[in-house]
Amino acid sequence: MQILDGRALAKTIRAELAEEVQQLKAAGKRAPHLAAVLVGEDPASQVYVRNKVRSCEKVGFESSLVRLPADTSEEEVLKVVHNLNEDDAVDGFIVQLPLPGHINEVRVTLAIDPRKDVDGFHPVNFGRMAQSMPCYLPATPAGILEMIRRYELPTEGKEVVVLGRSSIVGTPMSILLSRKGYPGNATVTLCHSRTRDLAEHTRRADILVAAIGIPEFVKPDMVKEGVVIIDVGINRVEAPELEKGYRLCGDVDYEAVAEKASWITPVPGGVGQLTVVSLLMNTLRAAKGEVY
Ligand code: NDP
Repeated sequence: MQILDGRALAKTIRAELAEEVQQLKAAGKRAPHLAAVLVGEDPASQVYVRNKVRSCEKVGFESSLVRLPADTSEEEVLKVVHNLNEDDAVDGFIVQLPLPGHINEVRVTLAIDPRKDVDGFHPVNFGRMAQSMPCYLPATPAGILEMIRRYELPTEGKEVVVLGRSSIVGTPMSILLSRKGYPGNATVTLCHSRTRDLAEHTRRADILVAAIGIPEFVKPDMVKEGVVIIDVGINRVEAPELEKGYRLCGDVDYEAVAEKASWITPVPGGVGQLTVVSLLMNTLRAAKGEVY
């Protein structure tokens, strides 16, 4: 069994991004600029946004954070989005989800200019992805593709099973790996909570992508010998023996499944590490005008 080391890979990519920033500056251009909009005080969202801003700083990007109180009206949020759309000093921006209940997330997502939608959530980018046109890919699937590429894992003709059909992870992953080219050309099965005989599917997988949000759901009897495991899940489970009282685990029973796997991503230290890096890669592409 070999580990797909997201932490090491993210470090390598960050060094490459920092180098690119230097080159842009040497050519008289400004550093790429990512803006983030955070509405309200959701603790998890605050951590995610802080991570994104800190990652920008690490590689020499500019970043700005627009913080709005939880009771901000939808109209106000839309105004902020329009301003960022028009601001030439901002290459790309994200609106951290979830938004407070009184704000319609679909309307906000649709208001973002697809050319600045570095989260890849706008349906224009989703549609372009499905048609293999230049686009911003959502960060987690983009990170997984990057991992597959850098480790040169073969995908052509492989049986891929994706667990979970969310629009930001499972569904795009299933589209991307079934597209023509590399990484792609796989035969993909997309499973969800209504799938019958789930283990019948997972046992056929050469590559299993787990994105369901249930701690250690995938057990060794659900996979075949030599499977490649991409574990997207990030779950908190109680661990009274630890000082912080919890530990993080994936959707795969790591210790037990690792014995049968040829490659596996750890949690933490796997896919999650690449998610933020992918957002930075999208922002760099935006700054260089590579997509639109
Ligand atoms: P969602 O909660 O949006 O979707 C979960 C999916 O899993 C749904 O499609 C659901 O099916 C399916 N599902 C739930 N229970 C089962 C079951 N028993 N059998 C089969 N399928 C099931 O999840 P996300 O895609 O947003 O996230 C998934 C996990 O990945 C979470 O742990 C999350 O924290 C993590 N995550 C990690 C990221 C990273 O950077 N590493 C980024 C984003 C998420 P149905 O559609 O039928 O309800």
